[in-house]
Amino acid sequence: MLKEIEGVEIISLVDNSIDFLSTIGRNGVENVVTWVIKCMGKDWFKKHFRYPIAEHGFSAIIKVLTDNVKYNTIMFDTGISSNGVLYNAQGIGIDLKEIEAIILSHGHYDHFGGLLNTVKAIGKKELPVIVHDDMFKKRGVQEEDGSIRVYPEFPKEEIILAKFVRTKKPFFMLDNSILVTGEIPRKTEFEKGATRQYCFEDNKWKPDPWMWDDRALVMNVRDKGLVIVSGCGHAGIINTIHYAQQLTGVEENFCNSRRFPSFRKRL
Ligand SMILES: [Zn+2]
Repeated sequence: MLKEIEGVEIISLVDNSIDFLSTIGRNGVENVVTWVIKCMGKDWFKKHFRYPIAEHGFSAIIKVLTDNVKYNTIMFDTGISSNGVLYNAQGIGIDLKEIEAIILSHGHYDHFGGLLNTVKAIGKKELPVIVHDDMFKKRGVQEEDGSIRVYPEFPKEEIILAKFVRTKKPFFMLDNSILVTGEIPRKTEFEKGATRQYCFEDNKWKPDPWMWDDRALVMNVRDKGLVIVSGCGHAGIINTIHYAQQLTGVEENFCNSRRFPSFRKRL
């Protein structure tokens, strides 16, 4: 069963574009400059801060606060380039050694591109990397002329200093404070998958619209409800929310206007 947590902090490292100008403090969202000064102090900011770079893809650091005294840190996806995540993390003062596991949302290269170098930088023997067997498929997308543009392949386990944990089923982590949904049932009529996706199996390219490896992270924040983090959302975001509700028995979703202090400042 998914445990209630006291709070969650989601630090965006890669999310296609960067917005340095958004209104600060709305719905708990903070501008990178404000957040770094609050966490690291003005001296660190002056000496070490570097504006993050934008790149296609997704990566986030997620800190869950349990029992008001302890937080745990994981990374969800690793961006598209080999070093983008590391550059951004270093420039805003993230200590990668705090990361206890990496979860990949699905096997598209804009989500695992930084995996090898991130695992190296974390430097922990047998770091758990939570994967699904389908992430290892050779994949591509059908172009307008019918040809297949082949995607970069997922890194082989033998070249990576990590322990791949393969799961298709719901998977609880960090003392049941985070749930990886596993395969998400596709139930809505209007979420039709990625219709141009193909995979190479039995010596030929086959349509692979459902991307069964696509999953989400779910957390249950006390008095707030579920926080659900998805990558591309190929399963369909409504399917994802329904499944998270079904797995946890919690109907409410997180939506508030209260500002959460940074855990590092708070502890
Ligand atoms: Zn994708």
